[in-house]
Amino acid sequence: MDEFDIAIVGAGPVGLFLACELGLAGCSVVVLEREPGPRSPWRAAPLGTRGLTTASIEAFYRRGMLDPLLSASGLPAVTGVETDADERAQPSFAGHFAAMTLDPAHVDLAAFPFRLPSPGPEMLMADLEAVESVLYERATKLGVQVEYGVTVSGISQDDERAVVHTGGHGHAARWVVGCDGGRSVVRGFAGFEFVGTEPMFTGYTLLATIADPEKLRPGFNLTPQGAYIRMPRDGHLGMMDFDGGAFDRSRQPTREHLQEVLRRISGTDVTLTEIHLASSFTDRAMQTTTYRRGRVLLAGDAAHIHSPMGGQGLNTGLGDAMNLGWKLAATVHGHAPDGLLDTYTEERHPIGARVLDWSRAQAATMRPGPYAQALQGVVRDLLGTRDGTTYVYGRVSGASIHYDVGGEHPLIGHDAPDFRLADGTRLGDLMQDGRGLALELTGDHHLRDTAAKWENRIQYVTGTAHNNLGVSALLVRPDGVVAWADTPTPNPTAFESALGTWFGTP
Ligand SMILES: Cc1cc2nc3c(=O)[nH]c(=O)nc-3n(C[C@H](O)[C@H](O)[C@H](O)COP(=O)(O)OP(=O)(O)OC[C@H]3O[C@@H](n4cnc5c(N)ncnc54)[C@H](O)[C@@H]3O)c2cc1C
Repeated sequence: MDEFDIAIVGAGPVGLFLACELGLAGCSVVVLEREPGPRSPWRAAPLGTRGLTTASIEAFYRRGMLDPLLSASGLPAVTGVETDADERAQPSFAGHFAAMTLDPAHVDLAAFPFRLPSPGPEMLMADLEAVESVLYERATKLGVQVEYGVTVSGISQDDERAVVHTGGHGHAARWVVGCDGGRSVVRGFAGFEFVGTEPMFTGYTLLATIADPEKLRPGFNLTPQGAYIRMPRDGHLGMMDFDGGAFDRSRQPTREHLQEVLRRISGTDVTLTEIHLASSFTDRAMQTTTYRRGRVLLAGDAAHIHSPMGGQGLNTGLGDAMNLGWKLAATVHGHAPDGLLDTYTEERHPIGARVLDWSRAQAATMRPGPYAQALQGVVRDLLGTRDGTTYVYGRVSGASIHYDVGGEHPLIGHDAPDFRLADGTRLGDLMQDGRGLALELTGDHHLRDTAAKWENRIQYVTGTAHNNLGVSALLVRPDGVVAWADTPTPNPTAFESALGTWFGTP
């Protein structure tokens, strides 16, 4: 039987991102994927198009994968384009809540004082195929073994290791991570509890020939019967039918059914001549009560499912992968401080729960009937205010995400700002090797000797920044989260204590 440090089930975006993190950290990794290969019409644009938020884009940037991602998405590279602004520009797109679009001019950036511009875009529409091809290429370069056409049919574990069963033979690993999507079998085999709320609606995405498309309004339309989206590309539609999730999703929706739903929701007599592709989803919102049972962990849709409204599933899953990767690698290498792996659930479970609630709040606001219509009026008024827009923007863009990891400085627990040093180096450039980063912004060497004790786990850099946001030094975890920060003069004792907390004994 093959033996690995980690076996990942599922070569979706989350499984592949996690595989890259673990490969970068020098772990032996196998990824098992039941599909015969990475290509599928559902993963290509436009049906496979997903909105990536700043946090996800920065995760690619910090690992040197932003240009490949932009190139795979048909966009120009940003390498060499110096972002010399020292403050973030007003966003050009701020998202929506329950199909009510935000005015980006109303976002109050002062509410996010520790954000600096970075070379990537604020928001990126990328298709799953592009995301996965970039990750697959990098994972294999890092020595990860990706096996397609392998269906996982069972998992067993004891104190020493776990075994993933795949028909004829098994793969043994010290740890198994289920990244096998919303219908995860790993979740079931390992006995995770999956709890939440049942659906209010059935959603559909489809590619159709429409005889009279002018009868449908372009964009996102909230109607008294539900909601429909007419996407910019011809024939691409989305619909939400508040049927209590009654549609039997084990069967393929027929042309007649889709047309009936579309006519009812849009209040038109539009005709769908032919259906080329169609799939359904619901707003069922469920989450496992923990992300770890023994030697089995979950990430991405395997740990949390909710409606795609608000475009957060992939972003949340990539956040899981970033958070888990370095902690699991430190555990495998035997230098993780006590309890480090448990901070994965402690930090990521509340984020997942907030995303589920966000999707529930939108479904409740969109459902047909006088109560939701009254609620829509209130929400619309709030979204017309600067505070309302800023709040929703913080939730939708991920800008308001932070972990409660203790410490006094307000930057601790937040994503590290992309500090730009006097020599042009950016924080993001310094994070490519997957180690933590001790960045002293005094140009002096108060922390150098302490940092040297952990040099195999963190990199130490000193310099001055164009805009240091009043911070004199910070310790950044490999996932980009600030573990410690100080001002005005860095305190080596407090720094050493933070190093021990996150990176173990030197
Ligand atoms: C219409 C729609 C629009 C969306 N828009 C957005 C958006 O704009 N932004 C956003 O952030 N999210 C969006 N999402 C959600 C996003 O697509 C998912 O959250 C994301 O794809 C989850 O990634 P994953 O890797 O966890 O799971 P998946 O992408 O589902 O990958 C799981 C993989 O595991 C494999 N697998 C399953 N079972 C087994 C098994 N037994 N053995 C081996 N392999 C197995 C599967 O074949 C699959 O490749 C949208 C979803 C939908 C449906």
